[in-house]
Parts: sequence; structure tokens; C-alpha cells
Amino acid sequence: MTNFYKTAKWKLKRANVLRRDEYLCQECKRYGKSTLATTVHHIFPLEHYPQYGMKTSNLYSCCATCHNSFHDRDSHELTDKGMKLLERMRKQIED
Ligand SMILES: [Zn+2]
Repeated sequence: MTNFYKTAKWKLKRANVLRRDEYLCQECKRYGKSTLATTVHHIFPLEHYPQYGMKTSNLYSCCATCHNSFHDRDSHELTDKGMKLLERMRKQIED
């Protein structure tokens, strides 16, 4: 899956998602903060849900701080915060 992020398809998708989200961290936005998004997060992790890898509704622009808060630094598994985001968005992603 390491090559996924190098594909032209992903780079285009990522650019489109950042544009959709107006280049703002969607998590900071929930708290009324305007922070530049630098990362596109897979809400359902790519590693476990490759079928959602390119699904626009599974993609979420965020800043580095918020992205780090969604993944455990060591295991890379979702944190409680990452799981909460997944549960909040599950319905629209699975539709
Ligand atoms: Zn943020």
C-alpha cells in the first residue's frame, strides 16, 4: 500500500479533496478554528479498508496536529478520536 500515495490518481484525488474542503482543517473547523489543511486523512484506514481508499466521502482534510491525533504514533491504528470521527461519518461513507 506504500505505493498508493505515489499514484497520479491519488495525487489528483487528494488535490480535489483539499479544494472541496477549501484547504482548511475540517477538524479544527468543528471548533471554530481556521487552520490550513496539509493532509488528507482516510477516515476508514486505507490499510484495513482499501475499498474506500479513493472514496471522496472517506477523505477528510486536516492539519498535521489533528491528523496525528487520529492515529496512534506507534501502532498507526486509530485513536479514540479517530474512531469517533469514523463513527460520526460511517453512514455517509458506507452509503
Ligand atoms: Zn486541525
